[in-house]
Amino acid sequence: MVRVRFAPSPTGYVHVGNARTALFNWLFARHEGGIYILRIEDTDVDRSEARFEKQLLDDLRWLGLDWDEGPDVGGPFGPYRQSERQSFYHQYAAQLLDAGQAYFCFCTPEQLEAEREEALKAGRQPRYSGRCRTRPREESARKVAEGQPAAIRLKITGNEFEWRDRVHGSMSFESDVIGDFILVRSDGHPAYNFAVVIDDHLMEISNVIRGDDHISNTPRQLAVYRALGWQPPEFAHLSTILGPDRTRLSKRHGATSLEQFRAMGILPEALRNYLALLGWSPADGKTEILNSEELTRQFSLDHITKSPAIFDWDKMRWLNRHYMKQTPLPYLAALSQPFLAEAGYISQEADDRALAWLERVLDAVLKNVGQLDQLPSAAKLIFEYDASAILRRDETRGVAEEEGARAVLEAFIPAILAEEDLTYERFRAAAQSVCLAVGKKGKELYHPIRVALTGEVSGPELEKLIPIFEQGSRLPLKKHVKSCAERLREFAAAAKLG
Ligand code: GLU
Repeated sequence: MVRVRFAPSPTGYVHVGNARTALFNWLFARHEGGIYILRIEDTDVDRSEARFEKQLLDDLRWLGLDWDEGPDVGGPFGPYRQSERQSFYHQYAAQLLDAGQAYFCFCTPEQLEAEREEALKAGRQPRYSGRCRTRPREESARKVAEGQPAAIRLKITGNEFEWRDRVHGSMSFESDVIGDFILVRSDGHPAYNFAVVIDDHLMEISNVIRGDDHISNTPRQLAVYRALGWQPPEFAHLSTILGPDRTRLSKRHGATSLEQFRAMGILPEALRNYLALLGWSPADGKTEILNSEELTRQFSLDHITKSPAIFDWDKMRWLNRHYMKQTPLPYLAALSQPFLAEAGYISQEADDRALAWLERVLDAVLKNVGQLDQLPSAAKLIFEYDASAILRRDETRGVAEEEGARAVLEAFIPAILAEEDLTYERFRAAAQSVCLAVGKKGKELYHPIRVALTGEVSGPELEKLIPIFEQGSRLPLKKHVKSCAERLREFAAAAKLG
């Protein structure tokens, strides 16, 4: 039975690398019909915070990665928070001490630091000297009984530590580069490399899939498995994610946390698809659009690449645009509402009529939107209209200066102002009659009309915009949407058409 875990430390926001690890574990579990476990690694008491754990659960739920066992849902191998599992760590540490495979270490931080510096000065890799290794057990027991602070270290024995990594192939580390490392600190907290092994074993984890920043931890964990006589799981270490400049992806490259992606209006389905392609590709090596069902169906550890993955914003937005187009408009309107509310265009509690109208807006402007936070600027031409600004801009003021354009607008504007209830058909009919009267057609006819109505030289189809202006003007939106008549009246006055 495949059992995998995502084991984050709640010390900050979930970033892209961790989200990808979470996703690969989830996809593998779902593909194999296995179990996906969420385990909170909060042994670093100084840095772990409850608010980060809450955010983490929210973020994973948003990304759609549901877990079968975890701190909130429980499960047969709980508890799922390391801070609640101390008794297991102490039990196995005691077992290793009894068996002579671990020992108490009384070295002070100053002693250890001095050793470290000495090694570095001599150009050696720093590792623990083993000073406390040979102390007679009775003497150690006495010191501990006296209350002297003591850590517990593992006695490293044997030669190499080897494993077959599902991504990197055959891996090996000489055991003497490792040194007797700490299992339990003198304050009683377990070290990561110890807790993780106890938990992975007790939770019957079959595959450990995690970032390659953990490769150097793996031999240490193998040493614990060896000492306890346990069978290690299979390991797969995922390559690093780099920014476009080929340095490790970090805040310098812009948004990197799930929370930021969400705030930018990236859809979870798009992010899942995009993250899946960071280091993995389907068997055909080229399909890029894969929804969750497809990803789950095709996912395999065999197609994970060793080379670093490069985060490509353009591709991310391209995928997001794709998923936005696939998303039913009512759902997308609900998602968009906060973004337009933030811009002061509609209210937070937009009613059903406003949301139905918003669907039309989305249908008109979505082509130019790669993520929802670009929506206010794409929809600006609907909410903001300023005739004098149009006449000031180099790109647009020609419509009031060129004779042909003026003639079109002088004929067109009164025709529109005379309409009681403007529809796109009535709009077309007015344009046709101008065509006959002034002798302009095509671009010469529609360009001045578009500019006078929208203030832009290009943009969504007028067929979509006209009803949006008309209907919007009758809705009690936070920011009034000007109707065609309001726009053109303002334009005629500012351009002194007459
Ligand atoms: N808590 C570790 C981390 O967040 C997990 C490492 C592992 O998967 O073993 O990096």
